[in-house]
Amino acid sequence: MHRGGYIGCLATIAYALANAIVAVRGTAHVAQSAEHILGKDEVTGSIPVVSSLQVFREPLPHPWSRGSSFVGSRLIRSDMAFGPRLRTDIVVIGAGQAGLSAAYHLSLRGLAPVRQYLVLDQESGPGGAWQHRWPSLTLSTVNRIHDLPGMPFSDMVDPSAASVFAADAVPRYFAAYEQRFALPVYRPLKVDQVERHDTGYLLHTSRGEISARGIINATGTWTKPNIPHIAGAEQFGGRTLHTRDYRTADEFVGQHVVIVGGGISAIQLLDQISHITRTTWVTRREPVFREGPFDDVAGSRAVKLVDDRVRAGLPPESVVSVTGLPVTPAIEAMRARGVLTRLPMFSRITSTGVMWDDGRTLDADVILWCTGFLSALDHLDPLELREPGGGIVMTGRLATQVQRDPRVHLVGYGPSASTIGANRAGRAAADELISALDQPPT
Ligand SMILES: Cc1cc2nc3c(=O)[nH]c(=O)nc-3n(C[C@H](O)[C@H](O)[C@H](O)COP(=O)(O)OP(=O)(O)OC[C@H]3O[C@@H](n4cnc5c(N)ncnc54)[C@H](O)[C@@H]3O)c2cc1C
Repeated sequence: MHRGGYIGCLATIAYALANAIVAVRGTAHVAQSAEHILGKDEVTGSIPVVSSLQVFREPLPHPWSRGSSFVGSRLIRSDMAFGPRLRTDIVVIGAGQAGLSAAYHLSLRGLAPVRQYLVLDQESGPGGAWQHRWPSLTLSTVNRIHDLPGMPFSDMVDPSAASVFAADAVPRYFAAYEQRFALPVYRPLKVDQVERHDTGYLLHTSRGEISARGIINATGTWTKPNIPHIAGAEQFGGRTLHTRDYRTADEFVGQHVVIVGGGISAIQLLDQISHITRTTWVTRREPVFREGPFDDVAGSRAVKLVDDRVRAGLPPESVVSVTGLPVTPAIEAMRARGVLTRLPMFSRITSTGVMWDDGRTLDADVILWCTGFLSALDHLDPLELREPGGGIVMTGRLATQVQRDPRVHLVGYGPSASTIGANRAGRAAADELISALDQPPT
C-alpha cells in the first residue's frame, strides 16, 4: 500500500475507534444520568422503564437534524462534557390537561419519548390539579371537562353519572390516557428553575439537571392561590383559608363564614356552606350575572377578550370577568334563599372579623378567600419573559408563544385556561415549537 494511503487508513481506523469509545462511554454516562434524574421507580403508567442505553443507542430519526447520527453523537458528547445531565429536545412542564394535550401532539408528530420530548410533573400521581379538587365537586357541578385529544372521557367514566367525584374521575381518565399513548410522564419531579443555556435551556429540577431546546410550560394555577393583602390580616384570631384548602361545608358548623370572591368557585362554596351555617358574601366588584345560554358565540367572544389581553402583554384576568356568572337553577335557588346578598370589599381585618372604610365591622370565625389563582410561572423567572407591567406578550396562532422567547410556549395560560382551550393550545404549541426548532439557532 502507498505510505500516504496506509497512514490515512490508520488515521481513519483510529478516528473511528476513538469515536466508538467516546460514544460507548458517553452512552453509558447518559444512561446513568437518565436513570439518576428520572429514576426507574418513578416511571409511571405503562411507560417502559427508561433504558437510556437503548434510547440513546437507537438510530436517531430526528425531525430537526435530517442527519440523525450527528444529533446522536452530539447528544452523547455534550452530556459527557456537562456531567450527569439529561439532554432532550422539548420538555413539557406539567401533566394536566394542557401538558397532556401537548405531549399527545408531540408524540403524534413522531417525536421519540425521552430523547426528543418528555413531560415532568411534580405530583405523585396523574390528574393535574383535578386530584386536589374538593370532594363535593362532582361531574354535575363542574362546568364541563372536555375530552383530551384522541380518547373520549366516556371511555373511562360515564359523564352522565352526576354523582361521580371529579377528583376521582379525572385522575383516572388522565392515568389511562398517559398509558394508552405511552406518554413519557415523570413524577414526582418539580422544575425549580429554568434558565437559558447554550442554544437552549437548562432546567434545575428536584432530581437533577435537564437540558432542552424548547419548553412547553403547562403548570396551571392551582399551586399559586391568590389572596389579596389586606391590612390587619395577621391579627385575625379566626381561621383563614383559600378555595384550594376547602374540603367540606361540615367543618364550619356553628361558625360565621365570610366568603370573598365573585367567581364560580365562590358561588359554589357559598351555596354549600350557607346550607350548614351563617354566611356573608363579599366581592370587590358588583357580580355580573349572565342570563341565557353560554353558547359557542359567547364562548368565542370571551376567549377573544382574553386573547387580546395577553397579546397586548397584559396579565390574564379571571374567566368570570369575561364570561359573567351563568344563572343556573342552583343560583336561582340561592337567590330565593336570600344568600346572594353581596357586600362590598372590606378594607381591614381585625382580630375578630372584618371592617369597612366607613367604620362598620362584622364578627367572623372564618374568612374563606375564593379569590382565584395566578399563573404558576415562578420557575421561569430567570428567563425574564415579563414586561415592566408584569404581563407577558404572547403571540402565535393561539397566543401560546412567548414573543420575547419563541421557543417557550405557555399552554393553559390566558385564553387556553380551560379544558377545551388547553386541548387546542397543546396542539398549536407542539406544531409551532417543532417549526421553531427546525430553524437554525439564533
Ligand atoms: C375549582 C375549579 C374548577 C374548574 N372547573 C373547570 C371545568 O369544569 N371546565 C373547564 O374547562 N375548566 C375548569 N377549570 C379550569 C381548569 O382547571 C383548567 O382549565 C384546566 O384543567 C387546567 O389544566 P392545566 O393543565 O392548565 O393545569 P393543571 O391541571 O393545574 O396541571 C398543571 C400541572 O403542573 C404541575 N406543576 C406546576 N408547577 C410545576 C413545576 N414547577 N414543576 C413540575 N410540575 C409542576 C402541577 O402540579 C399540575 O400537575 C376549573 C378550575 C378550578 C380551580
